[in-house]
Amino acid sequence: MAEDCIFCKIIKGEIPSPRVYEDDKMIVINDVAPAAPVHMLLLPKNHTANVTTADPELVAYMLSKVQMLAEKAGIADKGFRVVINTGMDGGQTVNHLHIHVLGGKALGWPPC
Ligand code: 5GP
Ligand code: ZN
Repeated sequence: MAEDCIFCKIIKGEIPSPRVYEDDKMIVINDVAPAAPVHMLLLPKNHTANVTTADPELVAYMLSKVQMLAEKAGIADKGFRVVINTGMDGGQTVNHLHIHVLGGKALGWPPC
């Protein structure tokens, strides 16, 4: 756990945030400022800064849960977007790896 990391505080329960899903490796919460009708964040329980610092097996594990989560949220049939913002130019604002899953409407492209 990293001090002053908002996602570590959510994982520890110091900041309340309802969990859409939880297992031994990760939690899933809804984004506080959703960019789409469904906007989930997949957070590994162990702090790591981003996708470049994470164990690739952990990233693969998290991605393996996306379809199940999309089905649970009712967005699997029409499709959804999986995003991992990385670093400053990538738009990463919280330096604890997180995978965005967005859906529930037709999403624009490109994102910027
Ligand atoms: P990033 O821009 O780093 O890829 O995404 C960080 C995301 O975390 C943003 O979409 C932001 O709305 C979300 N976020 C930041 N603080 C909180 C929080 O305290 N609770 C929740 N549920 N989401 C948060
Ligand atoms: Zn953290």
